[in-house]
Amino acid sequence: MTHPIEESDMPHRRIIHIYWVAFLFAALLAAQGCAVAPYTGRNQLMLVSPQQELTLGNQAAEQVLHEEKVVRSGAQVNEVQAIGRRIAMVADQQGYQWQFYVVDDPETINAFALPGGKVFVYTGLLRVAKSPDEVAAVIAHEIGHVLARHGGERLSNTLLAQVGQEAAMIALGDMSPTATKAANVAFGLGAQYGYILPFSRQQEYEADYIGLMIMAQAGYDPRAAISFWQTMMQQDKAKPPEYLSTHPSDRNRIAELERAMPRAMQYYQNSRRM
Ligand SMILES: [Zn+2]
Repeated sequence: MTHPIEESDMPHRRIIHIYWVAFLFAALLAAQGCAVAPYTGRNQLMLVSPQQELTLGNQAAEQVLHEEKVVRSGAQVNEVQAIGRRIAMVADQQGYQWQFYVVDDPETINAFALPGGKVFVYTGLLRVAKSPDEVAAVIAHEIGHVLARHGGERLSNTLLAQVGQEAAMIALGDMSPTATKAANVAFGLGAQYGYILPFSRQQEYEADYIGLMIMAQAGYDPRAAISFWQTMMQQDKAKPPEYLSTHPSDRNRIAELERAMPRAMQYYQNSRRM
């Protein structure tokens, strides 16, 4: 005990700090304990603010950009960025920082998005997609995950299950290692990126629905979403595309898309009249 004053003082300050943070976040919880998904109106558990989501998403993106081989220029980059910007512009939501990346990996048929607006598309997926409309279907689906804040929702559920609500708020308030670690798990990062933890079925259908509407509003043919999933399902059965491990596809998925198609076609036709 060489520094008795500091040692007794520190825990005290820490306790005050924890109470203050807990109080602050309890107050915030009233406002942001839940959220409503855009386009579908579904109620969501949401302990994370959009700003926290953006910060954690950017941290995760730093990791991805550090580890993956990102293509800096060329026709594929131009195409993905042009499609992405056009769809994001239609979605017109405040507070997002949209950025669209192409990852150089022709063997990997995959794409994913991080909270806040970073979307990654692998050259393997661009090789398999048959038209710009099909590429738009994938990007719009990923933007759908971001707009419906599925990363933040999964992070909220992960933290709640791990440490309970109060501790979750404190961890998020401090942006402590607990929050960062849970964020990496929740966003599907780890040994490999993007395809460790699939989103829930409900989130997938929701991203499909939102994606279909915004791609159509942006002037891309929404029917390409169905042809894309059919292409995915026809890929090598012995070595299924990575995208299918996080996006399990079956007739239900396509039936849901078909159900939403009349509305999407209306948006598509309106976009072509403008
Ligand atoms: Zn998805």
